[in-house]
Amino acid sequence: MIEAREFLKAGQLLHGHKCPAMPMGLRAGAAAMNALAVPRAKDKDLFAILELGDDHCSHCFADGVQMITGCTFGKGNIRKVHHGKFGLTLVDRGTGRAVRVVPLARAQAQMKQTKFFQEYRSKGTPASQVPDEVVDPLIQQVMSAPQDQILVVGAEFKTEVDKTGETFATRPCQACGEMVVDRYMRVLGDKLVCIPCQEASQLSGKTA
Ligand SMILES: [Zn+2]
Ligand SMILES: [Zn+2]
Repeated sequence: MIEAREFLKAGQLLHGHKCPAMPMGLRAGAAAMNALAVPRAKDKDLFAILELGDDHCSHCFADGVQMITGCTFGKGNIRKVHHGKFGLTLVDRGTGRAVRVVPLARAQAQMKQTKFFQEYRSKGTPASQVPDEVVDPLIQQVMSAPQDQILVVGAEFKTEVDKTGETFATRPCQACGEMVVDRYMRVLGDKLVCIPCQEASQLSGKTA
């Protein structure tokens, strides 16, 4: 069993401010891991699919998921599918066992009715400037709520995730000299170059 509360401090350190959405990500990640009975990903053992888009409320959810599952941007075992929703699908790569967890709309709507959103966030106050006495109770609420009051955990299903191994092949761009992963190299005249160098040459109409 993984306990979301044990990751709250580290999550806030990673995330940068106190808010209720990052903790919701911790709870969702924990619920998914506990449903699959899998530990935090050390390598790429887990794969997370987030339905979030960009530039919308409760986006902070993603950092909670990254913190607790070990599915991170750096390891490349997390993807956003840009549906503007808050579902998380967690996949155990080895077995293909997967589960989707989504915060209850009711719980998210209730959160929007709090002082944190009404008097601060929706008026443009950055989360870091909301007083502790306003945000702390909300965080406690998310962290201590019974799981079925805030999340829906779907039935386990099977899915396939890409298991392409990492490539170690790199070489310098023959135009700018910076290192490039082989599969991102482009042919420009008789040279192998990086994408920005290829695009720059197209813009200026040159061939090399
Ligand atoms: Zn946040
Ligand atoms: Zn280049």
